[in-house]
Amino acid sequence: MFSCYLCEKESCYISYFCNQCREIKNIMNVYGREEVLDIVKTCTIRNKKQLNNKIENIKKEQEQEETPVQTRSQKKKDQPK
Ligand SMILES: [Zn+2]
Repeated sequence: MFSCYLCEKESCYISYFCNQCREIKNIMNVYGREEVLDIVKTCTIRNKKQLNNKIENIKKEQEQEETPVQTRSQKKKDQPK
């Protein structure tokens, strides 16, 4: 019994790769590893700009959670007459 050569998580008995990694390997055989690697990188890894956008979104969400919800009736009361 060995662990899968690709993911190193699953146990393999008769093959170097687990079923899912075998599927990945088949896709790589068809499209080429450069193409597959390029697709994986562009689809899953965020660049610096995308990371900053994500961080800003999380900050905004946290700020919204911290500020209490103000209803329209509360706003009317707060406005000077
Ligand atoms: Zn695997």
